[in-house]
Amino acid sequence: MIWYQKSVEDVLGELETDRQGLTDKEAESRLRQYGANKIQKGKEISAWQVLIHQFTSPLIYVLLGALVVTLVIQSWADAIVIGAVLVINATVGFIQEYQAESAVQSLMEMITPKAVVIRDGKRRQIDSKDLVPGDIVHLEAGRMIPADVRLLEVQSLQVNESTLTGESEPVNKHDDPLEDAADDLTTADQDNMGFMGTAVTSGEAQAVVTATGKKTKIGQIAEEVQEAGEIETPLERRIRRLTKWITVAILLVAVVASTLGWLAGRDPVDMVLLGVALAVAAIPAGLPIVVTVALALGVSRMAKRHAVIRNLPAVDTLGSTTVIISDKTGTITQNQMTVRRIFAGHEQYQVSGGGLSFSGEIRQDDTAVEIEEKTPLWYTLVTGCLCNDAQLRKSDAEKHDQEKSKEGEEFEPVGDPMEVALLLAASKAGIDRRELEKSYPRRKTLPFRTERRYMATFHDDEEGPLVLVKGAPEKIISMCASQLSGEGREDELDGEYLVEESEELAGEGLRVLAMAIGRGEELAEKVGDDEADDLVFVGLQGMLDPPRQSAVEAIDNCHRSGIRVVMVTGDHGRTASAIAGKIHLDQPAMRGGTEPLDEGTREKLLQACSGQEIKRLEDDEFDARLDATNVFARVEPLQKLRLVNRLKKKNEIVAVTGDGVNDAPALKTAHIGAAMGAGTDVAKDASDMVITDNNFASVYAAVREGRTAFRNIRMATFFLLSTGAADILIILSALIAGWPLPLLPAQILWCNVVTNGIADVALAFEPGERALYESKPRPPREGVLNAVLLERLVLVGIWLTVGTLAMFWWKSGGAADNLDEARTAALTTLVLFQKVHVFNCRSESVSIFKKSLMTNKLLFLGVMASLGIHVAALYIPLTQELLRFTPLSASTWAAASGIAATAIIVNELHKHFRTPATEQGR
Ligand code: ADP
Ligand code: MG
Repeated sequence: MIWYQKSVEDVLGELETDRQGLTDKEAESRLRQYGANKIQKGKEISAWQVLIHQFTSPLIYVLLGALVVTLVIQSWADAIVIGAVLVINATVGFIQEYQAESAVQSLMEMITPKAVVIRDGKRRQIDSKDLVPGDIVHLEAGRMIPADVRLLEVQSLQVNESTLTGESEPVNKHDDPLEDAADDLTTADQDNMGFMGTAVTSGEAQAVVTATGKKTKIGQIAEEVQEAGEIETPLERRIRRLTKWITVAILLVAVVASTLGWLAGRDPVDMVLLGVALAVAAIPAGLPIVVTVALALGVSRMAKRHAVIRNLPAVDTLGSTTVIISDKTGTITQNQMTVRRIFAGHEQYQVSGGGLSFSGEIRQDDTAVEIEEKTPLWYTLVTGCLCNDAQLRKSDAEKHDQEKSKEGEEFEPVGDPMEVALLLAASKAGIDRRELEKSYPRRKTLPFRTERRYMATFHDDEEGPLVLVKGAPEKIISMCASQLSGEGREDELDGEYLVEESEELAGEGLRVLAMAIGRGEELAEKVGDDEADDLVFVGLQGMLDPPRQSAVEAIDNCHRSGIRVVMVTGDHGRTASAIAGKIHLDQPAMRGGTEPLDEGTREKLLQACSGQEIKRLEDDEFDARLDATNVFARVEPLQKLRLVNRLKKKNEIVAVTGDGVNDAPALKTAHIGAAMGAGTDVAKDASDMVITDNNFASVYAAVREGRTAFRNIRMATFFLLSTGAADILIILSALIAGWPLPLLPAQILWCNVVTNGIADVALAFEPGERALYESKPRPPREGVLNAVLLERLVLVGIWLTVGTLAMFWWKSGGAADNLDEARTAALTTLVLFQKVHVFNCRSESVSIFKKSLMTNKLLFLGVMASLGIHVAALYIPLTQELLRFTPLSASTWAAASGIAATAIIVNELHKHFRTPATEQGR
């Protein structure tokens, strides 16, 4: 169907609908017919895929190879154990991975796009996935177009279609049919259509849904490019590369060692067994599972802290964040404004009563003022009240009109908190908005836009059109030619004086808004075109928006963690600097015990860099400015992008917050884009995570959880590799010494997969701790293991080898007849070693003695359970037979435990001397 050629009426007829929308019943039946309106992005996890995934790791191939070899040489016991391990590993892996991925999927779907539809003639909000062809939808700035639609009625609608066309300039839309257009018009030219996934940047429209789900343009594209591959995080990719590398290395060592042994005249079957033992020894079979579980846990822990991850790689990137660029209003501050000060007609007024309340009054020198006697004051309040799109909930506002200001009145303000504050201020002065609206009915509105920095409303008055304007003081003053003085006289404008007055208010951290008025048709036109220059300035209102206490704490914590916080705002520089001081943006010196900064540097950090400056500065000048200050004011959203880009150039890992349509480029470009829950759909769509409570503290909480997730993956890797290294060293040393194999392949697998299997996954559950949060961000390019850990890995490997071989030597005495007992003793020593060692691996740098066993109960119970299983295996005939276990004497147990305990010593010494004191929590 070629919708764009047809008239609106024809389209509606074709879709069997009308402007009243579908009935609920009809919508329901169409939903059954057409299916849900959603597009499969990337992978839909199916149980099958997860199951197959269990058998596609190189580690598994090695095990399968080992199985074949043991079958060929008829080493039945080993073959049975390897087979069992394969089954157990796949089952456990399947269950854990499937659970983890489903959990992640459902968490990521917490933020579902919504659409405003008209059904049964009523307007309501539904999940976009329930839309059907024929639905009438309402589109407005900040929303994504929820399906493919034909526009019915358009009010200056502009749409950014870059997701489809690549064109980043918004396009103008209309609702006229394109009768003469070709049948194969490109998407970009279909000016009366809207497409799913594109963003409304301004204006509004009514539209009828023409296609949903897979039938939409974007759905078709998604179908074509559907990749089979799943999304892999950078960390997962690194781990996969690591395991591949390990596999190759191990195979090489196995082949070389057994060949050399054979050439040296050892028994060939023994040498094949040795090769198999080596191959299975170093395989960190549990690693992929640990990674999946740790990442999933990160996602769910973040969700609990109000950060909903939309993009899985964000989990590990978050942990290495070095700079957070945050909006001020609403993210760092409460977004609960109260007018505190008014300046009008050369006079200062105070407004009493805080919070969201009607109680309070306008005062001058501690006495209430009669506003009727103060013309400029009256105009200032009236402009604030009428040039205003907010609502105090109707019923209460009505009640309020009748009996003035009752204590503790409950009401539900709707709209911009700043405008709510202006309404409350007017009401405190006894101004009745509804009466005023009757006398000065509003004809037209010029809505607020950040780039314009003012808003105007046009009203009817007996003396002709009345224009009321409010906005940023510099902007308003530049639009005025005169100012209202005490007795209502229009004096010549003294711009400098007014700027000074407004900066004084701003210096107190107040957000200052200026009000101006004008009359006449001609003037109204000029205001609409942003060309006004002869308005009458009437006054200023200064409002307080206090910082959130939790945000201030989070900022302090960021500084302790070596994370820089940069504040960006559309507000005036003075206001921004005053707030920045209150939230300690001048005290980043707390990091790692460095000296506090001197006064001068601190003052500089608070000196706001303005949007105009940003425009003017060359990149290198801007970089210098960026190094010296943490405050950016009067910034246009698009300038945030430059901030992000410059910081990225300096190799910072950048997180940025945003809520508006224009924030989308910065959100996309930053390493972490954090959209506010209260923000636009467009911002959310461009982001990696959504902060549901709009609070800076939640951004920081997510960073913490990111660090914890990475640390846990890192330490689980370290654990698995250090024990694997020990296994290899044990076998190679025995070979060189000419001893019989101290551990059989089946026994090594028993130790690595069965007894370690629970413990390593439990490491993924380790909670973070202060020392981890307060250490510097990890260098972004650092691998899963760093140099310090590699060093420790070698040390631990050697230590475990020495201990295990000592036990073997003591028990066998070189004799071949009690080999079974010697092997059982050696293996038990190794098992105990590893059970002790896993507790070493709860932290990279914090002492084992500083971590309570109770903070990771799963680990404690897991270790207990695996010890129980091992002891049982020593005494159950079946496992005795399969694994050639013999019971051990009390003295052997005691010796094995004693040796195992020494694993703590190596780790503790290494932590103490090779990691920074701050990271140890000292
Ligand atoms: P922020 O980043 O702090 O939210 P905005 O971009 O929303 O800043 O606002 C920038 C400036 O524009 C404000 O300091 C104020 O002067 C002016 N302003 C904001 N909202 C309105 C509005 N609704 N009407 C008029 N002026 C406004
Ligand atoms: Mg704002």
